[in-house]
Amino acid sequence: MSRKRTIRVKCPICRKPVRNRDPEFPFCSERCRLIDLGKWASGDYVVSSSLRDTSDDEVPGEPSQNDGQKYD
Ligand SMILES: [Zn+2]
Repeated sequence: MSRKRTIRVKCPICRKPVRNRDPEFPFCSERCRLIDLGKWASGDYVVSSSLRDTSDDEVPGEPSQNDGQKYD
């Protein structure tokens, strides 16, 4: 008895769960795949992160100008 392993990821576009058996993996649909493709093509991929709530995400390279004042 062999069980096929199903890997589940989230669609990078709409965050819907996607299985690696899905035809458009790692996207949930062809639509999301094309959206992603378009973002890369237009160089808009980095900006896209501002479209969703990033309050839980780490902000990479955030400059902290108050660093000196904090320990004053
Ligand atoms: Zn999607």
